Amino acid sequence: MDHKQPSTPDFPSRLPKVGTTIFTVMSALAAKYQAINLGQGFPDFPCDRALINKVNEAMLADLNQYPPMIGVANLRTGIAKKIGKLYGKHYNPDTEITITAGGTQGILTAILSCVGPNDEVIILEPAYDSYRPSIELAGGKAIALALQVRRDEKNQVSSYEIPWEALAKTINKKTRLIIINSPHNPTGMVWQKTDLDRLADLVKDGDALILSDEVYEHMVYDGMQHHSIASNPLLASRSFLVSSFGKTYHVTGWKVGYVAAPAALMKEFRKVHQFNVFTVNTPMQYGLAQYLDEERRYLDLPSFYQSKRDFFQAGLKKTRFKLLPCPATYFQCVDYSRLDIPEAKLTEDQFCAWLTTEKGVAAIPVSAFYEDAVESGVIRFCFAKQESTLTTGLERLQAL
Ligand code: GLN
Repeated sequence: MDHKQPSTPDFPSRLPKVGTTIFTVMSALAAKYQAINLGQGFPDFPCDRALINKVNEAMLADLNQYPPMIGVANLRTGIAKKIGKLYGKHYNPDTEITITAGGTQGILTAILSCVGPNDEVIILEPAYDSYRPSIELAGGKAIALALQVRRDEKNQVSSYEIPWEALAKTINKKTRLIIINSPHNPTGMVWQKTDLDRLADLVKDGDALILSDEVYEHMVYDGMQHHSIASNPLLASRSFLVSSFGKTYHVTGWKVGYVAAPAALMKEFRKVHQFNVFTVNTPMQYGLAQYLDEERRYLDLPSFYQSKRDFFQAGLKKTRFKLLPCPATYFQCVDYSRLDIPEAKLTEDQFCAWLTTEKGVAAIPVSAFYEDAVESGVIRFCFAKQESTLTTGLERLQAL
């Protein structure tokens, strides 16, 4: 008799280089060492009770079966109204807006719906870590261009800029998609109107589509404005716009977002969406549809987060980190390479692990946003936290 244990056959990995995302890894490490978690981007304060009440009401009203595949009508209408008012473009809620299970699903679905084998997709690094694997699952080829890094006289990073020349050279007939992200995670860089015009100029004679990740659209500070892809007619006519209610309403765990795109793109998007998640949870959609009505709930967000940023920056100024600009998002990057401690020589990954396990503050290495872990001595903190969390984190950082 053969007593050999049955074994799982070997099979080739679709994503051989992918491990667990850095955000999950750092949150787990923070939990294990009871560190202040300024790593993964999520608020540690409660969302508005009014929003919870609206979701509760929907559940109690028995709105608990499948919603329409494309999302609850009132929510799509509300989104169309909001985009129209803020960015001046009208998307048809029936044919051009779909509710997704968060921004990340919207991104994957958009990519799967238009990228095929041998298609090139341009991404700008540092890039959110889901872009590349999503492109590879579609069979496409990610072409990464690095944001230009400006450095000061001490060779520390001071800012990031769009690599226009490289972008112009890289766009070619095989370019199916260009992924942009403004406000940018992790650097906070914001695209200006002139940047959108310049991109429009680069793509107007070809067939490249655009995926615009705008999940931090309501976190732009110092009186600056967010310039959505929707505000540029030429770009809007070839773009998927992705946004997230999790980010805007402090409910990252609900995983509800949306994608807006011209009908021709949305038609293909929905073919993938229906066999990917089919629909997104019903009561949340009804709750959000009502909550979205009141504009101040997103219009007040810049001042809400700007005061958190200012509080966090004031505390960081008492440390020996160099602060990078933070015009947007809820992320503050710092350069640690000139700290007067031996650990300043560590790689970003090692530095973050050390900071978490030995000093009790978790952060994210910016190198994780590059395919080939570019080391620039920069780490990212998330300041979407209660003042008490930030204060404890800052005290620990000030002691470094
Ligand atoms: N977008 C969030 C960040 O950058 C995390 C999302 C996630 O963990 N997948 O921290």
